[in-house]
Amino acid sequence: MREVSQIINGKRIIVKKPELLAPAGNLEKLKVAILYGADAVFIGGKEFSLRSSASNFSLDDIKEAVEFAHAHHAAIHVTCNIILHEDNLEGLEDYLLKLDEIGVDAIIVADPYIMSLAKKLNLKLEVHVSTQLSTMNTSAIRFYENLGVDRVVFAREVDYQDLKEVREKVDIDLEYFIHGAMCIHYSGRCMLSNYFSRRDANRGGCSQSCRWYYDIFEKDQQLNHDEIVPFSMSSKDMSLVDELPKLIELGVDSFKIEGRMKSLHYIATVVSTYRKLIDTYCADPDHFNKEGYRKEIEKAANRALCTGFFKDFPNSQYQLYNQRDEHPTQDFCARVLHYDTSKQEAMIEQRNYFKVGDTIEFFSPHHENILIQVKEIYNEDREAVEVANHPMEILYLKCEQPLSEFDMGRKVLTNEK
Ligand code: SF4
Repeated sequence: MREVSQIINGKRIIVKKPELLAPAGNLEKLKVAILYGADAVFIGGKEFSLRSSASNFSLDDIKEAVEFAHAHHAAIHVTCNIILHEDNLEGLEDYLLKLDEIGVDAIIVADPYIMSLAKKLNLKLEVHVSTQLSTMNTSAIRFYENLGVDRVVFAREVDYQDLKEVREKVDIDLEYFIHGAMCIHYSGRCMLSNYFSRRDANRGGCSQSCRWYYDIFEKDQQLNHDEIVPFSMSSKDMSLVDELPKLIELGVDSFKIEGRMKSLHYIATVVSTYRKLIDTYCADPDHFNKEGYRKEIEKAANRALCTGFFKDFPNSQYQLYNQRDEHPTQDFCARVLHYDTSKQEAMIEQRNYFKVGDTIEFFSPHHENILIQVKEIYNEDREAVEVANHPMEILYLKCEQPLSEFDMGRKVLTNEK
């Protein structure tokens, strides 16, 4: 059992700080995740990875990702977590050797052959057992430990009591999901997409068939029709923001945020909130004030949130039977490219509509949130404009408080002020 906290100068502090592991679907998101506080980022290559549509990292991109991460004292984990069919074997050995040569810190794997191959090739990188293997008990963890893997990523369906028991019994690194989408099946064992859209969920092609709308019949009678809304099997997303202190006290090694397909704003908001929470709690766990973190997470929440399987089996309150729309409470409208201190002016890239008179909240890993009311907007030709309605347009805004590159601006909705 690892020591989680110590009394230093009469005050308890957490000495075993968990790793914050964030997702990234491209290099821009990866840089934002690291700048906003991720200790490690997981990405998918173009081969052998799930989420094929989010996996746009070529080997050159992975090299750049590793260089950027290491320069910022962060790590890169690459997913190689498809279930291999015969025709997926070709090129695997070369690919693993290249990842190792590039300096990737870990691969996340689901197929036992990749675990054994990584060991046979004597790679320097760590091997992590993917959540796709639905690992939920001590004996299974010991089995993987005996194969020489370095970490096990738990199934999302493991509850707190089981997690606590396992943590007390095994010493291997454990990774646990703290935030993101849930499957309606055990991860890695769902074939809905394979049957309904002929896309292999376990080779990166999940079409999210569980979230489609379905008509329901009892014998020949349709139960949901006309005014009755369609039915879907979608779960609310999971957020353990209120439970994080319990997880830190257990000594879980890594906290994983799901969502390689998510937006820049989502990644920045979620990563920075968990970063602040972990740092604040670890510095003084006995005087921790949990206020404010949930509200911050909800600014980027695409869907309603729940605690997944953490507390108990989910009930009907955890499901979204007929809502798949995304409902962020604030609109991401600007990314800061540069701040001119002498002119007190920010150069921004427009990301969503806003106009003169709107209030924008800028957030950052470097400062507390800053609210500004937009009084003037200038375009690249220095002409005053009333509205910012061209995606990715370069614009200038006055702001007395200094901003930094990669700060994000979100439009505050009227009822949020
Ligand atoms: S169809 Fe739904 S439950 Fe199945 S793998 Fe895809 S997202 Fe998960």
